Amino acid sequence: MNVFEQMSAHDYGELHFGLDEDTGLRSVVALHDTRLGPAIGGCRFIRYENDDAAVIDALRLARAMTYKAALARLPHGGGKAVIIEPSEPFDRPSLLRSFGRMVDGLAGRYVTTEDSGTSPQDMEVVRSVTDHVCGFAKDSGGSGDPSPFTALGVRRGIEACAKVKLGRSDLEGLRVAVQGVGNVGYNLCKELAALGATLMIADVRDSVTQRVADELRASVVASAAIHRQECDVYAPCALGGAINDRTVPELRCPIVAGAANNQLAEDRNGEDLRKAGILYAPDYAINAGGLINVAQEIKGYDADKARARTEQVYDTILEICQRAESEALPTHEVADNIVREILSNAGTRFSTAPPAP
Ligand code: NAD
Repeated sequence: MNVFEQMSAHDYGELHFGLDEDTGLRSVVALHDTRLGPAIGGCRFIRYENDDAAVIDALRLARAMTYKAALARLPHGGGKAVIIEPSEPFDRPSLLRSFGRMVDGLAGRYVTTEDSGTSPQDMEVVRSVTDHVCGFAKDSGGSGDPSPFTALGVRRGIEACAKVKLGRSDLEGLRVAVQGVGNVGYNLCKELAALGATLMIADVRDSVTQRVADELRASVVASAAIHRQECDVYAPCALGGAINDRTVPELRCPIVAGAANNQLAEDRNGEDLRKAGILYAPDYAINAGGLINVAQEIKGYDADKARARTEQVYDTILEICQRAESEALPTHEVADNIVREILSNAGTRFSTAPPAP
C-alpha cells in the first residue's frame, strides 16, 4: 500500500501507528480532521485480513466521524482507532492499557470510545491510563446506552421531513415502516407510538418483533416486504445498503428516514430517490444522537443538555431538505456540501484543536 496515496484519497489528516511487542499491541489511530476540536471516534478491536485492511478501515471510519460531528455542530473532529486482534494469545487488559498510553500520548487531540469488539468495560481499562476516553456506563458516571438518543434524533428528523414533504406539524396517524427493531428501532417505535404514529415493523428475529407488536400495537410485516409497504415514512434501522437499485423502484413512500449507517448502497441511489420524488434524510445527519450523547461526557455528562442538543437534529434535517429543494440537489450531496463549508471556515489543516479537559 502507498500510505500517502491512501491518505490523500481519504482527504487526510494524520495517521498514527502504535506497536508494543510486550503486550502485542498493533494499533492505527486515524485523525481525519481536528479543525473543529479534538477528534472523537470509537476503537475497533477485531481481526483484519492484513495490515492494509486495518489502515483503510481506520481511514474510512474516521472520515465519516468528521462528517457526522461537523454536521451535528459538535466541537469535534473525526477520529478512529483500530487494534488488530493478535493471532497469538494475549493479555487483554495489558494490551488495552498499552493502547490507552498511546492515546494519552496524543495529548487530548483524540478521544476514544467503544466500537465493534470493545465494550464500556474495556474503556474502563483504557481510562486507568488516560483521561481521553468516553462511553462509560451510567453507573460509572457515563452517558450509558446511546440508542435512545439516536432514536430521539431520528424521530426529530422524521418530524422535519414530515414538515417539508407533507406539510405536517404532528405525527398523529403517520404511517411508518421500520426495518429492524433492535436497540434503535425499538426505541424509535416507542418515540413514534407516543406521538400517535401507526407502525409497521420487520426484523429477522421474531422475538424482537413480538415485543414491539405487543407493547406498541405495531403490525408485523415480512422482512423482505417491509420496504414495499405503502406508508408515509420508510425507516431503515437494520444494516447498511437498504436503499439500492432493487429497492428504490419498489418504495411506496414519500420519505426515507431511519437510523442505519450507510443506507445508500451507491451514491447514485440518492439521486434515484430525488428523481422518484422521495425525500431522503441523510443517514449521518439523522442518526447523530448517539454521538451527541457520548460527546457530552467529555465536558461532564448532563442528560438534559444531551437531549436538548439531540432535539436539534430537527433543524439540521430541515436545513438540508430546504437547501436540497432550492438547489435541486440530492440531500446526501447537500449534507456533504454543508460539512465542507463548515470545515473550510474552520481554519487550516493541523490548526490546534483545544484539548479535551
Ligand atoms: P441492533 O443490532 O440492535 O439492531 C438491528 C436490528 O436489525 C436487529 O434486531 C436485527 O435482527 C435486525 N436486522 C438485521 N438484518 C435485518 C433485515 N434484513 N431485515 C430486518 N431486520 C434486520 O443495532 P442498532 O444499535 O439498533 O443499530 C441499528 C442501525 O443503526 C445500524 O445500522 C447502526 O450502525 C445504526 N446506528 C446505531 C446507533 C446506536 O446508537 N446504536 C447510532 C448510529 C447509527
